[in-house]
Amino acid sequence: AKSAGRDTARFFSPETDQRVLARQTMEGQLRQALANDEFSLHFQPRLNARTRRVQGAEALLRWNNPMLGQVAPGHFIHLAEETGLIKPIGLWVLREACAQWMALEAQGVCKGLELSVNLSVAQLSDPELVGQLESVLRASGIPPHQLELELTESQLMDNPGAAQAQVSALKALGVQIAIDDFGTGYSSLAYLKRFEIDKLKVDQSFVQSMLDDSADAAIVHAVIALGHTLGLKVVAEGVENLPTAQTLTALGCDELQGYCFSRPQPIEEFVAWLQGQDD
Ligand code: C2E
Ligand code: CA
Ligand code: CA
Ligand code: CA
Repeated sequence: AKSAGRDTARFFSPETDQRVLARQTMEGQLRQALANDEFSLHFQPRLNARTRRVQGAEALLRWNNPMLGQVAPGHFIHLAEETGLIKPIGLWVLREACAQWMALEAQGVCKGLELSVNLSVAQLSDPELVGQLESVLRASGIPPHQLELELTESQLMDNPGAAQAQVSALKALGVQIAIDDFGTGYSSLAYLKRFEIDKLKVDQSFVQSMLDDSADAAIVHAVIALGHTLGLKVVAEGVENLPTAQTLTALGCDELQGYCFSRPQPIEEFVAWLQGQDD
């Protein structure tokens, strides 16, 4: 009994307690976040590598909670996945991103630019996704080819058969599909060929160190070659400086995204940035 007591004491250490409490607090706050209008979107441009003209932007979710402050997506997306909250949150992102994008179109700010939206694992496996996307396309009026959905490599390869069917159904609506974080998962090349995708996004971990690490440079080079062999566009993300941008352009990479050009910004700042690009 004594040792059990000690074990119990160790199990409920103040540290564990605090972590459990923090998680419960965050989960509770996350449940209220949509209703309390605590989410917003930031936009980060991606540029044509050769012309350096803006090609589109990626919408990235931000959570500002009065109690927790700014919570990074890396800290709450997985919790949202585990609790199933990601479905309503993901739908909000899709709706809101398309609506905001079309409002910019109406103002003549982003004529014909593409919008990229991230989809979570739970969304991809949701049978309601295709219907939801259809209604978002209709309600927002965004031309489907201007919308690009980003799915991670591991998401697709987790259950490739089901993912392939879902991707086909999404493609049938006319949207574009990009594989995000490419190079970090374990792609079967046979499946890669069969997926109806448009684009590979080289994971930023390779891009960030490609000038210092010859193995990373070789991986980036190989992904660009693989993508082009399969008839896909290749995007590099996490481009932090001009030498990296120049090297990627020389390697034939199609599009560039990263702090070198712009951080993700709230829509007003993004618009100001876009207008600065025209001068
Ligand atoms: P991701 O989709 O790979 O997005 C790129 C992340 O890299 C973003 O982080 C962006 O701010 C950051 N980034 C962009 N350029 C650079 C750079 O040059 N250097 C560095 N160091 N970082 C750069 P963020 O916004 O914190 O998002 C993290 C991840 O959270 C995203 O990774 C994505 O997986 C997830 N996420 C964000 N928004 C959403 C969303 O609306 N839905 C879903 N399902 N996931 C989201
Ligand atoms: Ca992404
Ligand atoms: Ca990525
Ligand atoms: Ca990611």
